[in-house]
Amino acid sequence: MNAVSAEVHNQPGELTNYNLFSSHPALVEALAREGAASDHEPLVALGARLGSAEMFSLGDAANRNPPQLQAFDRHGARRDEVQFHPAWHELMRRLVAEGLHTGPWAQPRAGAHVARAAAYMLWAEIENGTQCPATMSYGAVAALAQQPADFGEWLRLLLSRDYDPRFIPVTDKRGALMGMGMTERQGGSDVRSNTTRALPAGAPGPGREYRLTGHKWFFSAPMCDAFLVLAQAPGGLSCFLVPRFLPDRSVNRLHLQRLKDKLGNRSNASSEVQFDSAFGLLLAEEGRGVPAILEMGVYTRLDNAIGSAGLMRQCVAQAIHHARGRRAFGRLLSEQPLMRNVLADLALECEAAVALVMRLARAFDAQHDESATLLRRLLTPVAKYWICKRAPGVCAEAMEVLGGNGYIEDGPIARRFRESPLNSIWEGAGNIMCLDVLRALSRAPRTREVLRELLASRPGGDPRYDRCVAALLRDLAELAQLHDPADGELRARELTQRIALCTQAALLLAHGPAASCEAFLSTRLAAGPPAVFGTLPRGTDFEALTRRVLPGISAD
Ligand SMILES: Cc1cc2nc3c(=O)[nH]c(=O)nc-3n(C[C@H](O)[C@H](O)[C@H](O)COP(=O)(O)OP(=O)(O)OC[C@H]3O[C@@H](n4cnc5c(N)ncnc54)[C@H](O)[C@@H]3O)c2cc1C
Repeated sequence: MNAVSAEVHNQPGELTNYNLFSSHPALVEALAREGAASDHEPLVALGARLGSAEMFSLGDAANRNPPQLQAFDRHGARRDEVQFHPAWHELMRRLVAEGLHTGPWAQPRAGAHVARAAAYMLWAEIENGTQCPATMSYGAVAALAQQPADFGEWLRLLLSRDYDPRFIPVTDKRGALMGMGMTERQGGSDVRSNTTRALPAGAPGPGREYRLTGHKWFFSAPMCDAFLVLAQAPGGLSCFLVPRFLPDRSVNRLHLQRLKDKLGNRSNASSEVQFDSAFGLLLAEEGRGVPAILEMGVYTRLDNAIGSAGLMRQCVAQAIHHARGRRAFGRLLSEQPLMRNVLADLALECEAAVALVMRLARAFDAQHDESATLLRRLLTPVAKYWICKRAPGVCAEAMEVLGGNGYIEDGPIARRFRESPLNSIWEGAGNIMCLDVLRALSRAPRTREVLRELLASRPGGDPRYDRCVAALLRDLAELAQLHDPADGELRARELTQRIALCTQAALLLAHGPAASCEAFLSTRLAAGPPAVFGTLPRGTDFEALTRRVLPGISAD
């Protein structure tokens, strides 16, 4: 190689070894605002640990080396094991040690879910495959804790901070993780079409033993210690705890067929599985499977929104960093007027996502408050829908800021872009979330009142905001009067989007900096969200918006 071609200049250095938390003012403020101010220092420490170059490398390595299924041993006997790269195990070890999977259940206290939401958002900036078993375990605790039958030993192991990947009976383990199995070939959203059968092995009822026969078409993190699985029992669709090992220490008849070849999320294994008279314990009454597993689903949906907010932030931070270090046409990209607009617009989307998801997390801290419960019921599908839908566009635009390098797998954005559509699909795709919003509104009419109170809580008024909120509340009231449900369903996306935007606007009006608030009202609320980023009006304080996601920090 000659000396000229080896010379590299005008390439910004890596954005690693920085504090993921304290470099994110929008998140720092949201943490305090939503009731977890006392977690500031622990999050600063976590932000430093997670922002290390080592963590970025572990995330890359785990995704470059996807897991391998070992369905059989060399003699042809079933093994049903998945082998992971050491980077996966190291990430899992750290995630569990930080308590990011089930921390709020292990140490319940005011602000616990908000603090975890902030911490989990930081983790989402680094690696997303590991969040699959962590999220499912977070939700599984909620589902198991509701059960009359005693799952105390499972709960104790789920709350442990020891990651124990050994494929051995759970009674010998220091910690456990759980997954879920709902989706079958013929239907995922419509779980009532499930064909997997469950028959009682003896007397039927909650906590009793059943045998499951059938399949699941998507079955992620199959090396978990147990799964909550839907199957048709004599009394209807029911939920079962299906462990990897039986009480007699033999391996359960849960046969992994193959692993999915996924667009992203490649560090994590997602399998297809066959149940061959597999052992399972009934949760809740027969026929009550959907409500039982939805206790889990509501937490996984919260995590989908948190995860997408984290993904967006990391991609936008990388874009800002690049633009601050790369010159074109005589000045830094970050000084070019049009690029300033693009970066500020991306940052605004991040700030609004953080505000919404952190407000939602607060409703998870007020578990026994009636208004918070209604708000949680409404805003969970709203936030999952809207934030997860915004993520691919944000990640794609951030990628383009890096030019050709953005598209290359060596860089920080390509893998995150491939990851970005997933949160919108699993645990209820976009339309399903919007239909769930309609359900939340119709099942408890007071939900509309709780939303109205939230939207009225911002101090001072803005005529654009007032107009949009009044129109939304009027349309939601009309929705309740519709005779043909199809009329409501047709509008479900539009209404969900407006609830999301009005809530984000309310939060920015009440707590956001004036520049962010003004830009949001003029470009998101009054005119509807722009199709592309970089269309903020003249007079916007672009720098102020951009600094909300990444203040000026050193490039290396
Ligand atoms: C990487 C990955 C991991 C996964 N891991 C798991 C797992 O561990 N466990 C598990 O159980 N599942 C898992 N899933 C499955 C996922 O939850 C389902 O794919 C998802 O719920 C959609 O179900 P489906 O694929 O059957 O699509 P369908 O249900 O056929 O839906 C297809 C489309 O139709 C829309 N739609 C459905 N009904 C309506 C309606 N009434 N009105 C309007 N539109 C409608 C949906 O929004 C969707 O866009 C995983 C999926 C992926 C991609």
